[in-house]
Amino acid sequence: MAATQVRTCCCIVGGGPAGVMAGFLLARAGVRVTVLEKHADFLRDFRGDTVHPSTMQVLADVGLLDEFLKRPHSELSEISGRIGTRMLKLADTRHLPTAAKFVAVMPQWDFLNFLSGAADRYPAFRLLMSTEAGRLIEEGGRVVGVEAHGPDGALEIRADLVLGCDGRTSQVRAEAGLTVRDIGAPIDVLWFRLPRRPDDAQAALGNIGPGYMLVMIDRNDYYQCGFVIPKGGIEAVKAQGLAAFKASLAAIQPMIADRLEGLRSWDDVKLLTVTIDRLERWWRPGLLCIGDAAHAMSPVGGVGINLAIQDAVAAANQLAAPLREGRLSDADLAAIQKRRTLPMRLIQGLQVAVQERVLAPALKADQPFEPPWPALLLDRVPLLRRIPARVLGMGFRMERVKTPEHPGAAA
Ligand SMILES: Cc1cc2nc3c(=O)[nH]c(=O)nc-3n(C[C@H](O)[C@H](O)[C@H](O)COP(=O)(O)OP(=O)(O)OC[C@H]3O[C@@H](n4cnc5c(N)ncnc54)[C@H](O)[C@@H]3O)c2cc1C
Repeated sequence: MAATQVRTCCCIVGGGPAGVMAGFLLARAGVRVTVLEKHADFLRDFRGDTVHPSTMQVLADVGLLDEFLKRPHSELSEISGRIGTRMLKLADTRHLPTAAKFVAVMPQWDFLNFLSGAADRYPAFRLLMSTEAGRLIEEGGRVVGVEAHGPDGALEIRADLVLGCDGRTSQVRAEAGLTVRDIGAPIDVLWFRLPRRPDDAQAALGNIGPGYMLVMIDRNDYYQCGFVIPKGGIEAVKAQGLAAFKASLAAIQPMIADRLEGLRSWDDVKLLTVTIDRLERWWRPGLLCIGDAAHAMSPVGGVGINLAIQDAVAAANQLAAPLREGRLSDADLAAIQKRRTLPMRLIQGLQVAVQERVLAPALKADQPFEPPWPALLLDRVPLLRRIPARVLGMGFRMERVKTPEHPGAAA
């Protein structure tokens, strides 16, 4: 059967934070966008849950912050964690020069549903769920579209720009032949849920000790837990048996000891492989990658969503007018990589440093250890906690929305 032909101005592959934010901002600026998301909904539990001050600044810039904050969420402004033998205060976001001075913790599917709902108000926005992008369409060395498969069959989508926002296993970047530089990550994450009770004391978000790191994200009626293991260490964990795994969780966090029956088999524990990499070049004529597709981020620091959204804002600022006016150039695409490379490299550098200097030694340790001195210093000097808060909350270059709503863009 012949593929259905679709013509759009910008075809965005991937409905994660980068793709939905780019789609929203471009449609608001009067650019026709079609976002392809291969899943039927945004509901997947391996997504991060953090909405950072910089992202909420973007929502404030476009007049959506109050509406967003009406959705159920919790607010985190003083971030602490157990490192070695000590519970330490590590970051304080209350002094940030942003509209919201906290990290909002909200399931990412709620955030993406909110944002795509806001984007739906613009007739230029089209989101195709259950639609998976495949081969790129090229003409004369230029990407001119993408083939896709949706619920009603094959699609051939022609566009002035294909924006690859399809995450760290990006098919778009592979199809485009862009060169990936693997930075490496010495860790993987086991991901599972445990029930939360209303009278639970507030659990430490992170626990690092000899042989383990446990992260517990409060999602109201359950904890989303991440248990960090050495890369490739899943078989060793399984070999010790589920009972031994549960016993180690109970020893780390006694509060959860009475609810581990929720983990009935290894099927309840998912393995998430952690990657840090980046593209040497983010673009080709007619194509640009942003977010994890351009630079896969480790979960360390919970900043990957932040960076993906900042890339989307920078891309929309740079591309809205050229796309709308049909004058997109390679220089526009190169400008986005130039602008976003340094902030991304600095954050990846910090993630690598934490992985190598804190996490990997902790996972190898078999005796209780003292926290590293920078963490002790942060705990002792409240003023210093503003520094990690700034890096985590705002990144190294906070992007503001520069494109106004285009006259007539809203329905
Ligand atoms: C275990 C783990 C925990 C993390 N926790 C956090 C956290 O708490 N906070 C934080 O800030 N960061 C966290 N990160 C990093 C963060 O998840 C990423 O940096 C961020 O999601 C990148 O956003 P993105 O939009 O670029 O890509 P993604 O979020 O990966 O979105 C890509 C989207 O593209 C879709 N897609 C893929 N291929 C296709 C295709 N061919 N056609 C159509 N659609 C396609 C996918 O279904 C997906 O919806 C974590 C990472 C890991 C591995």
